Amino acid sequence: MKEKNLDTLQNIFIFSKHFSILMEDIDRLLISPRKAMYIKFIYENPDNTKTTEIAAHFRVDPSTVTKTLTELRSMGLLSHEPYRTTTLTKTGAHYAEYLVRRHRILGLVLTHYGLSPQEACQEAALFENSVSKVVIDSMCRSMGHPMMGVCGRISHDPCCCNGFEPAQEDRDLQSSIR
Ligand SMILES: [Zn+2]
Ligand SMILES: [Zn+2]
Repeated sequence: MKEKNLDTLQNIFIFSKHFSILMEDIDRLLISPRKAMYIKFIYENPDNTKTTEIAAHFRVDPSTVTKTLTELRSMGLLSHEPYRTTTLTKTGAHYAEYLVRRHRILGLVLTHYGLSPQEACQEAALFENSVSKVVIDSMCRSMGHPMMGVCGRISHDPCCCNGFEPAQEDRDLQSSIR
């Protein structure tokens, strides 16, 4: 089962020509919520990826972190540099972008139903791992591909919404936020 998931993920990214179509397969990866949190943390904190720093952030034993990082490496999401700083592979970075986008789209939806930005952020984290990319893309489209989420910018790269291209004024906005 694990091997099958790995194959699926690699296939998603190998055929970059058909990137947007194959990204639909991303849900089949079935990465655990804990692994997803690690990937997102490494993506958002590239300078704090020592095992001890990750362990401190998640308040777990460093040995737990080491075990999870080894699993993520074997999935092709992290580079093979066990004694250096942990970095994402290209595949890992693409996947992290998707995870961040999923969180921010869901957070934004929740603010439309009366939750404060902080509540929306916390609540989205509770169930985001169960939401498929089809649903996220559909929500993103229905909100007009928003540029800002409750806890940061929402990226619209080729893996978003089947190759959605932001309008020029949105691109200008995006670069001014950066
Ligand atoms: Zn958030
Ligand atoms: Zn979008």
